[in-house]
Amino acid sequence: MRQWRMPVPSRVIQVAVPRPLHAVYDYHVPETLPMPGIGTRVKVPFARSTTVGICVSDVVENPHKTLKDVESVLDTAPIVPAELMELAHWMSNYYHYPLGEILATVLPAAARRGATCSINPPDHWRVCTEAFENTRARAQAALFDDLRERGPTATADLLAAGHSRASLNNLSKGDYIERCEPADTPASETPPTPTEAQETAIREISAALQSFAPFLLEGVTGSGKTEVYLRSIAPVVEQRQQVLVLVPEIALTPQTLSRFQRRFANVGMLHSNLGDSARLQTWLKCARGDISVLIGTRSAVFTPFKALGLVIVDEEHDSSYKQGDGLRYSARDLAIKRAQSRKVPVVLGSATPSLESLYNANLGRYQKLDLPYRAGNAQMPSYRVIDMRGLKHTDGISVPLERVIRDHLRAKGQVLVFLNRRGFAPTLLCAACGWQAHCSDCDARLTLHKNPSHLVCHHCSLKFQVPKTCEGCGGNGLMAVGLGTQRTETGLQNLFSDVPVYRIDRDTTRTNAKLEAQFAKVNQGDPCIMVGTQMLAKGHHFPNVTLVAVLNADAGFASADFRAPERTAQLIVQVAGRAGREQRPGQVWIQSYQPENILLQRLINEGYPGFAAAELAEREKNGFPPMHSMALLRAESAQGQEAMELLNQLKAQLSGVEIMGPVPAPLARIANRNRYQLMLLAPRRTQLHAALRRLKIPKVPYTLRWSIDIDPYDSL
Ligand code: ADP
Ligand code: ZN
Ligand code: ZN
Repeated sequence: MRQWRMPVPSRVIQVAVPRPLHAVYDYHVPETLPMPGIGTRVKVPFARSTTVGICVSDVVENPHKTLKDVESVLDTAPIVPAELMELAHWMSNYYHYPLGEILATVLPAAARRGATCSINPPDHWRVCTEAFENTRARAQAALFDDLRERGPTATADLLAAGHSRASLNNLSKGDYIERCEPADTPASETPPTPTEAQETAIREISAALQSFAPFLLEGVTGSGKTEVYLRSIAPVVEQRQQVLVLVPEIALTPQTLSRFQRRFANVGMLHSNLGDSARLQTWLKCARGDISVLIGTRSAVFTPFKALGLVIVDEEHDSSYKQGDGLRYSARDLAIKRAQSRKVPVVLGSATPSLESLYNANLGRYQKLDLPYRAGNAQMPSYRVIDMRGLKHTDGISVPLERVIRDHLRAKGQVLVFLNRRGFAPTLLCAACGWQAHCSDCDARLTLHKNPSHLVCHHCSLKFQVPKTCEGCGGNGLMAVGLGTQRTETGLQNLFSDVPVYRIDRDTTRTNAKLEAQFAKVNQGDPCIMVGTQMLAKGHHFPNVTLVAVLNADAGFASADFRAPERTAQLIVQVAGRAGREQRPGQVWIQSYQPENILLQRLINEGYPGFAAAELAEREKNGFPPMHSMALLRAESAQGQEAMELLNQLKAQLSGVEIMGPVPAPLARIANRNRYQLMLLAPRRTQLHAALRRLKIPKVPYTLRWSIDIDPYDSL
């Protein structure tokens, strides 16, 4: 009789390591170690050192003959849950990127380095007995009484109040006090009554809970999209499920956070300024289900959730959702992917949706929800165009604009002046010989900055001294040409010396805290002028701004990038949306040297929806995204020769797709490296990916950098 034996489980696993290689590696797990499950971190020897990798398979068909041993298993349970593991595999396929590096991106930095993944004990304290009666321990008694009075209090606050760590320890040892979570501040806000349009949107979203349902919420600026989010979140949280809210980088301000905290308990936050350990803690708490609502920027899309119930992507058109280097993922697209695999609704909200999302809505893939009017009593702002041809201006402010600004300030309104360029002037030019200050390392002009005076390259960040005389002819004809926010700030200060002028750009506002401080001053409500870059365009609510001035609308529409018109229109509409958000109606004045520009005219006359429809038709005609799929192969090297050669080699292998290039990138040299690109287009996603998968990338020296960008946002 034949004997059936249980198959001996093999002790071989596959490990993905964070190295730029596509392969995963087989390792043997010694008997002394527990068998790690898929998604568990393991420490393994790799290339004469050790690294932290992730177990990605425990069924290895034909293991490699000579196997190295796993050194240690770092987790008792998988840290990457099955859903995220599946997402990582999908990304590896879609973005043509090594699985090990994808998993390294998914994990918080601390976990990637091998830190222990456990949730810190809560750092608040509360009393847990009736009384403390040891009258001789005076310090402990004082702490006990104080704590009973205060309720849950953070360790740091108790120490700051003069209590000692010794007292804390002693009381805790005697079971008089215990650790606890901070007390939840109960909802402290009466929400406004939803408008009819809000009501419809909330109803549709709520009806779709527990199933995959993508929504595109197109709501004009100030229409109350956030209120729709908040009310859609409420029933999810009540069901003890969790919500992921993605917001653009610049929009995650304390103002945003507190709007959610006033409504819900256990709100968590993830953004790029968070320390590694805090980031890991939040990650773990989401996985355990401790956090109900997680608000985060791009990389928060990789957070594990115990019971995800709803995903929201606010300002879904925002460029900060697309990672610009390394693993060039789109957090918006991944958010949809996650909602799909967790079978929950996803809401993409914007006043100016991306053409991608509008196209999907047109095809019926997304359900469209509209908020066509502003909430409360606010009216949409009105647009005017100032024909700048032949007009005089003071540091960018034309005479008619100066008059309007004065009118608004006199009527106690606030004014926002938008100019998308930092510094004093974008060009330093010699009037005698035409010499211009260029960066030594880039094909780019240097921007003049003042206070202190220097020339800065906005591409590689190099700084240079301002030459006293022209470097071309030695003469004294140097002059600052063109406008930056610094120059306009000075101009505005001279013209309107009796009101404060606040400049808001990356130079004045390096941190969110600084930005908040500036906005706090503005929101005291007195007449003032803000001048700044796109930082001012994003989601902020300034109740008293009645005038928005766009100093130069032309540059954006003229750019070579196929997305430039879309981006420019979004920017103008968003910045215009800061005007008249409460009782007083707002005006938008746009200065232009090409006032009859068809794109500008269309935007003003037909609004963003009309503009977007025309732009979509244009993209269709040209075979561009979103109808066709695009990938950009980039390569750069010191001389450029090797980069060009690599792209030509790759081109020779490609078939079944439309190929453009290789050509020098529009900014051909940055930081002394010459850049080339090859653009691929295909009517179907699958064609593009099939072609890319067939590519055999030759071995290249490490001095030659190359990348594949799927669905590129920037083609410059
Ligand atoms: P959006 O995100 O669409 O630009 P917000 O959500 O910031 O708009 O809302 C703009 C303003 O309108 C906020 O001050 C908000 O409190 C208010 N608001 C929202 N919904 C209503 C409503 N139904 N009734 C009155 N005010 C509302
Ligand atoms: Zn000169
Ligand atoms: Zn430079």
